[in-house]
Amino acid sequence: MMAEVAKDAGELPAISLYNSLSRSIEPLRTQVPGEVGVYVCGMTVYDYCHIGHARAMMAFDLVVRHLRHRGYRVRFVRNHTDVDDKIIVRAKERGIAPLDLSSMFIGALEEDLAGLGLRAPDHTPKVSDHIGDIVDLIGKLVAREHAYRAENGDVYFAVESDPEYGKLSGKKLDDQRAGERVAVDAAKHHPADFALWKAWTGEPTEPHWPSPWGEGRPGWHIECSAMAKAYLGETFDVHGGGIDLVFPHHENEIAQSECATGKPYATYWMHNGHLTLDNEKMSKSLGNIMRIRDILAEVPGEALRLMFVESHYRSPLPYSSDRLTSALVALDRLYCAKETAFGSTGEANPKTMGEPGLEAMEVATAFPGRFYAAMDNDFNTAEAMGHVFDLVRAVNRLGNDRGARSKAGAILAPARAAFALIADVLGIGTMSPQGFFDEVKTKRLLAQGRSVGEIDAKIEARGAARSAKDWAAADRIRAELDADNIVVMDSPTGSTWRMRVGE
Ligand SMILES: [Zn+2]
Repeated sequence: MMAEVAKDAGELPAISLYNSLSRSIEPLRTQVPGEVGVYVCGMTVYDYCHIGHARAMMAFDLVVRHLRHRGYRVRFVRNHTDVDDKIIVRAKERGIAPLDLSSMFIGALEEDLAGLGLRAPDHTPKVSDHIGDIVDLIGKLVAREHAYRAENGDVYFAVESDPEYGKLSGKKLDDQRAGERVAVDAAKHHPADFALWKAWTGEPTEPHWPSPWGEGRPGWHIECSAMAKAYLGETFDVHGGGIDLVFPHHENEIAQSECATGKPYATYWMHNGHLTLDNEKMSKSLGNIMRIRDILAEVPGEALRLMFVESHYRSPLPYSSDRLTSALVALDRLYCAKETAFGSTGEANPKTMGEPGLEAMEVATAFPGRFYAAMDNDFNTAEAMGHVFDLVRAVNRLGNDRGARSKAGAILAPARAAFALIADVLGIGTMSPQGFFDEVKTKRLLAQGRSVGEIDAKIEARGAARSAKDWAAADRIRAELDADNIVVMDSPTGSTWRMRVGE
């Protein structure tokens, strides 16, 4: 597989990326040349994931895909937060054990992300499997006097013990002190101090583990520091997550890791922009319609991928059903072009092909250079998609001319290579065209409460009417199908059909 071939680090293409820590675009320089350690904050698994989560997961799927495609060896870690207040509350409501609830939603999450074409990370550690690493890290912070056990039994990180606290978010501790009304929590020395370890309340259903500070469970932030260290070492290359995690989560990860080890934590911090809905930040209250699995029931996962990659990962991404429909239309055009590129035979000389043939060849030949230039520069999928659409337009223009298409097999060789590149890096156009058209048929009809068999029967009835030269009946059936957005294509071997998308 192309993605797995390791090259000499010296010959790898240069990649640049925006680092939230320096607030600038920087060249990628890793701890070990040619190897990239990537840690991404995963999800708190207490419900099905929605489209806002999908955006973050997708953003880093693309980063990892592109780095691998360019020959870098990537070690990709994304955690599951399976110990958390929200999980405990939800599990109690349902009368099941918190770890049973979270393992159920980890299963659902993996299914949803696979449906979106996400490649599984190399490691997906869970908090409950790393309590020892977490206790160990807290122990180091306590020993170095960066953390203290408060009267209530909780262990807090002392933000004032870290002179660099605030370097990622730009927040100043003094501002936070000034905003303090009354003592938020009498147990803390400073209102911005955060829990590393939470004492067990004694509630039997609450997960708890032994520690030098008593029975309890980890606070949220410490888990990522402990798991990143366990899989990637004390200093690693790229840490990612949603922009909403910059403060306090990522700020706290940096503080506790660097204070515990005395070494830099992550070299590059990457943050994806929000998914927005009517200009509001996505939230759970928007209900089930935004669940990934519900969207996947209606459209192929690649339509959602295409909608995501049309925006740069750092930009806000406005979501609406219209945008998803437009993405499906664009994807349909891409598969039409792929069908032409892979379906054309013939060895016509480009010089005799005429303008559409020459254009398709030129655009496809120039494609890899343009695509890589966009992607190597901070994973600019928006610009890369501009080149994808140029390619699709040029190939479809040639494809519309049946005569030209039948001769264009050799001319479309660079287009076939371009589609393979798009599929490997962006995860779009990975299916056979027929597989895509069939998936659209099934899902669109199902969403309307109809079936493929029902349409097949109508097509057959129309065929019978045509054989009997009952043109009036054949035309009536065709008009009915057309009204239902079903396009019938007649050929000498029979009639086939597709769903018309986007109308
Ligand atoms: Zn995290």
